Amino acid sequence: MIIKMRAEATKDEIDHVVERIEECGYQAHVIRGTERTIIGAIGNHTHGNELEALRAARGVEEVIPILHPFKLVSRELRQFGTVVEVGKVRIGVGSQVVMAGPCSVESREQLMETALAVRAAGADMLRGGAYKPRTSPYDFQGLGVQALELLKEASDKTGLPIVTEIMSTDDVDVVAEYADMLQIGARNMQNFALLRRLARVNRPLLLKRGPWATIKEWLLAAEYLLNGGNHRVVLCERGIKSFETETRNTLDLSAVALVKELSHLPVIADPSHSTGRRSLVPAMSKAAFAAGADGLLIEVHPCPERALSDGPQSMDLPGFARLMADLGKTTPYQAAA
Ligand code: PEP
Ligand code: MN
Repeated sequence: MIIKMRAEATKDEIDHVVERIEECGYQAHVIRGTERTIIGAIGNHTHGNELEALRAARGVEEVIPILHPFKLVSRELRQFGTVVEVGKVRIGVGSQVVMAGPCSVESREQLMETALAVRAAGADMLRGGAYKPRTSPYDFQGLGVQALELLKEASDKTGLPIVTEIMSTDDVDVVAEYADMLQIGARNMQNFALLRRLARVNRPLLLKRGPWATIKEWLLAAEYLLNGGNHRVVLCERGIKSFETETRNTLDLSAVALVKELSHLPVIADPSHSTGRRSLVPAMSKAAFAAGADGLLIEVHPCPERALSDGPQSMDLPGFARLMADLGKTTPYQAAA
């Protein structure tokens, strides 16, 4: 339920409503706007009627049910878009943030060369996989802690915040120690034990959409994170399974536009995993921004043909620089660097 307070409601009246919500067994989420306070009552709807009775409480203007099954992520509760900060980078409300870097961290040379090049091209954040979810157990699985150390070193050198994937509840402490933002990969979107644990981590999260997941399931996965206490969540559309085999996945840009309507959370797009083809990344990057994406996640490798994972979809360094210039992300200073 949403309890909309009158513009002139006093602190005591607001406190009283919060107390009643908690007495009824719900969590109260107080959202103070410039004009009025809105209180979200979130929980099992066993006492719905008691909440409706709050219409009669002093200072209350309206009591409105939240229609969607997702509540805290819903725009019904928060009308204005959320901005998630990762270091100095602000994601949301039309930011055009670019996170770029290799699929996997493979060596110091590979990572440093990529980090310096993507920064020079105007990227805002560095991505790189330390723990890799691979379809086959015989494929490269990532360098683990060694990769985290290299990412930290690259971040210190370039000033770019790091985003990297977390695959297991066992690794939360170590990944959170090195990374500025933790990525929940597509395959783990409904790993509820991991979601519950990450809800308690003091780091912003990037939640990828599962390739099989509906928009509702994706937003409910995000609801786990907010409900557990972590409100710093960015969503990432990375392509869904369809009958098409020419592309690796099908980039669902209507989901980007729709999620912007349904939720206040920032949404970015991943043109690399969704297409699986380097040649399509520029067009899909522009399309994603046109659809309202707040950012992009792009795989970049100094020598894609030698990449240990996802070479065919990785941009080389000059290709990435051209794309960034095309997107208007490269400042004249950066272009000259
Ligand atoms: C990745 O970002 O490298 C990755 C494995 O992505 P996804 O979870 O979308 O497949
Ligand atoms: Mn990859």
